[in-house]
Amino acid sequence: MVKLAERVMKISPSLTLAIDAKAKQMKAEGIRVFNFGVGEPDFDTPEHIKQAAIDAINKGMTKYTPAAGTLELKQAVVDKFKRENGLNYDISQIVISCGAKHSLYNAFQVLVEDGDEVILPAPFWVSHLEQIKIAGAEPVIVMTEEKNGFKMTPKQLEKAITSKTKAVLLNSPCNPTGSVYTKEELEALAEVILKHNIIVISDEIYEKLIYDGLEHVSIASLSDELKECTVVINGVSKAYAMTGWRIGYAAAPVEIAKKMASLQSHATSNPTSIAQAASVAALNGDQKPVEDMKREFVKRRDYMLNRLLNIDGITCPKPGGAFYLFPNVSTYFGKAYKGKQINNATDLATLLLDKVQVAVVPGVAFGSDNFVRLSYATSIEVIAEAMDRIESVLAEIK
Ligand code: PMP
Ligand code: GLU
Repeated sequence: MVKLAERVMKISPSLTLAIDAKAKQMKAEGIRVFNFGVGEPDFDTPEHIKQAAIDAINKGMTKYTPAAGTLELKQAVVDKFKRENGLNYDISQIVISCGAKHSLYNAFQVLVEDGDEVILPAPFWVSHLEQIKIAGAEPVIVMTEEKNGFKMTPKQLEKAITSKTKAVLLNSPCNPTGSVYTKEELEALAEVILKHNIIVISDEIYEKLIYDGLEHVSIASLSDELKECTVVINGVSKAYAMTGWRIGYAAAPVEIAKKMASLQSHATSNPTSIAQAASVAALNGDQKPVEDMKREFVKRRDYMLNRLLNIDGITCPKPGGAFYLFPNVSTYFGKAYKGKQINNATDLATLLLDKVQVAVVPGVAFGSDNFVRLSYATSIEVIAEAMDRIESVLAEIK
C-alpha cells in the first residue's frame, strides 16, 4: 500500500454530501426518499440567470478568464458589497472561486499552517473543520449552548484564545443551527478580536436567507480596522438556487486576496466562464426570486418547527436564517426501537433512513451529537409526509 500524504490522513469525507449521495442513490433505485439531508434549495435557478448563461455560450464566452474571475463579475461583487453591506472594496480585493467552499479553502490555505490554532464555534459546518485541518492548523472548538441560541459569547471567545490563535471562523446565518448574530453581538466579539489581533473568516453564504425582520450584518462592515482583518466569504449557491453552478467569492485585504488568486491560478484556474456570466446576472438582476424563495422558506420553517415541537422531549430554538432546523433529540438516547438500541444521533439518523426513508444529518457532522439537522429546502407537502413518518418512528422508541 502506498503511503499517503500526512495532510490527508486526518480528513473525513463530507458527511453532508455522503448522505445526499445515499439518498439520491436510493431515489435512482426507485425508492421514495424524503431528503432532509443536504443543504440545497429545491427551487430552480431563476430564468434570467439561466438565460445569461445561454447568451454567454452563444457569444463565445467559452474560454479561460482571468484566474480570479472576470472583471464584470468582480465589479458586480464590488457593487453588491457596497449596496448591501456598506463595504467599499477595490476590484483587486475580490477573488471569484468554484463555490464558497473553494473560497474558504483558499482562505485557510493562505492564512493558516502547522502550529496555528483556528477558533471554530460549534455546532459548525462539517467542511469548516476539515478545511482547517487540511491547512495543517488545529481547530479549537468552542461549544455554544442551545439556550444562547447557539451563539459564541465574547467570554467564550476570549477564553479560547492562546498565543497560537491565528483566526476565528464566524458563520452567520449559521449552518447547521440557523442562528444569526445581531450587530451588537458582533460588536462585542469584534472587541475581543481586535484586542488579540486575530483574523476573521466570515462565512456569509446564507446572508439573504434571513427571517423575522432580522438583518444581516457583515462583521467587516463594523469598522475599517475590522475590515482589515476580515476575509468575507459569500457566493450565489444558496441565495439564487445555483448550487450546481459552483461560484463563490471572497473579499479580503489586498495581500491576502492576491495570494488566494495565485494559489487558485495553480489549482483550478478560473471558475467556469459561463457560470461567471450567470452570476453577474444573479447579482445585478431582479432580486424578486430571492424574496419569493425566502417567503416559501419561512412557511416551511414554521410548519416543520411546529411539528417538531409537538413531539414530546424534542427541543429546538427557532432559527433566524438559513434553511435548517437543528433539534435536540437526545431524549431518545439509551432507549430502543423494537429492540434496536439508539445510542446517539447517528443511530437515530440510520433508523429514520432505513425504516421510513427520511434522510437527516446526525449532529456528529457538526460537532454536536445530541442533535440532528433537517434541511427544509423541500416542499411543504414532502415535509408534511416526512414528519408523519418521523413521528411514527419516534413514537415506537421506548
Ligand atoms: N459555507 C456554508 C456554511 C455552507 O453551508 C455551504 C454549503 N455548501 C458552503 C459554504 C459552500 O457553498 P458552495 O456550494 O458555494 O460551495
Ligand atoms: N452546505 C450544504 C450542506 O451542508 C451542501 C453540502 C456540502 O457542501 O457539504 O448540506
